[in-house]
Amino acid sequence: MNMQELIKSIRNRAERDHAPDDYVSVWSEYEPFRGRRERAAVIILRTTGCFWFRHSGCSMCGYYTDTDPGPVNEENLMNQINMALKKIKDESIIKIYNSGSFFDPNEIPENVQENILSLFSDRKRVIVETRPEFITYERMKRFKKFSNLMVAVGLESSSDEVLKNSINKGFSRSEFERAAGILKDLSIPLKTYVLLKPPFLTEREAIEDVIRTIEFASEYSEIISVNPVDVQSYTMVEYLWNHGYYRPPWLWSLLEVLKRTSKFKKVVSFPTAGSKVRGIHNCGSCDEKILGIIEEFSYTQDENVLSNIPDCKCRTVWENIIKNEGRIYSTFGEEKNILDLDFELGLFSR
Ligand code: SF4
Ligand SMILES: [Zn+2]
Repeated sequence: MNMQELIKSIRNRAERDHAPDDYVSVWSEYEPFRGRRERAAVIILRTTGCFWFRHSGCSMCGYYTDTDPGPVNEENLMNQINMALKKIKDESIIKIYNSGSFFDPNEIPENVQENILSLFSDRKRVIVETRPEFITYERMKRFKKFSNLMVAVGLESSSDEVLKNSINKGFSRSEFERAAGILKDLSIPLKTYVLLKPPFLTEREAIEDVIRTIEFASEYSEIISVNPVDVQSYTMVEYLWNHGYYRPPWLWSLLEVLKRTSKFKKVVSFPTAGSKVRGIHNCGSCDEKILGIIEEFSYTQDENVLSNIPDCKCRTVWENIIKNEGRIYSTFGEEKNILDLDFELGLFSR
């Protein structure tokens, strides 16, 4: 079984509801906006889901369970939006996600995309997420009239090796560059998501990979959001975690990333499942304080916030991991990296 077959076979164990008129969820939160905290409403629409699920999917993505086996038609989608509108107040930022790509016409027909964006044209900002394949010059030219539109893209990593062998992202760095270039030409702001610690990277490799990715994405992005991997159900990451092959990143690693990229004044992080065993965590006793610092920095971009970190004995454990993790693999030969080893141990075949 290769990695893509494994991802698919794990995911296909998940059950999905057919509820085409029901959105997945709506909630209110804060979003950084030009150095301030603004109220934001988040709407998760139920669509037939990311086209990449049909092929295989990303190794850490559990959003499949929020999708509908279909069909979900235009009327269903507008019913979902109208129901969601009843829960939304005067939030100045609206985030619309659909466990896939907003601009994929097979998930959300183009006239519905336009209708949805029109409904929120009075807000300061509307953020929608899409894979880069759906960003074309023609399409985005049509959406330029929505001056409050921000497009979010999950680049995850600027390394083609990591995109292919750790994430199974299904696109390369050059595809992101193409799409980001179009948005830049049209002055449509881009929010880029990057992933901290995809599987098969050591803690140190993960830190360096994210920093390189931020440096690469910075020229295109108004904001870069670091998503530390959390172990979601029915994913390959969960499979590895269950077998002792994966630990979510340390909060110390995220702090290191934020410190080393703070000069860009655009890097934020709002971890999912922070301090939980399935999410980014330290020893348990320092987690809440550090999460508070990360949140404060994400809103203010004030570097002083990051120079005032409380110490904890688990920092030495993390430092040892950063120094020594990966060395055990060298006994298997200089050329082997952790990914080769995992394949060698028979966990996967390529
Ligand atoms: S592109 Fe996004 S929604 Fe699709 S499988 Fe990957 S992470 Fe999930
Ligand atoms: Zn600690």
